[in-house]
Amino acid sequence: MNKFAGPKVGPLANSFQLSLCYPFHMNDCIFCKIVRGEISSYKVYETDETLAFLDINPVAKGHLLVIPKGSDSSNIFDISAHEWSAVMETVRVVSTALEKALGADGVNIMMNNREHAGQIIFHPHVHLIPRFKGDGLKLWPHGSYKEGEAAEVAEAILETLKK
Ligand code: AMP
Repeated sequence: MNKFAGPKVGPLANSFQLSLCYPFHMNDCIFCKIVRGEISSYKVYETDETLAFLDINPVAKGHLLVIPKGSDSSNIFDISAHEWSAVMETVRVVSTALEKALGADGVNIMMNNREHAGQIIFHPHVHLIPRFKGDGLKLWPHGSYKEGEAAEVAEAILETLKK
């Protein structure tokens, strides 16, 4: 297991992560406190292993977060296969309800993993963002590959997966 799945950029980042969610501070991040009801939240769905609640600063109204209730992992790099499966099943169930409840036209499912990918809370969480026809929300710009670059990148990933 990856023992340190948060920021990789020096002591400040390390202490920042410690204050949010880290194995040595188990059960002490904002989301852990939400699970225990020590911080208020708008919970919409709960299973033995997962919780879905409203993001406090929504990208769109109805923006939800789905988390594992356990707190010994930080993101996709150290969550167990079992916990991840449970999170994904809750994502599936809640996405369907979210679209229906808000009369949305789709849902974006996103996850930020590590600081440079935009992660600020180091307890695994998946964002569900309801989308509406014509809402104009652009989540990321698309680029393109130079000649031969796509094959190189695919090869690097493929080789790593073989190890
Ligand atoms: P990320 O950048 O992926 O780590 O996202 C963290 C998310 O947590 C942000 O979208 C915040 O708006 C959200 N957030 C932070 N504190 C709370 C809170 N107390 N209740 C609900 N959502 C929160």
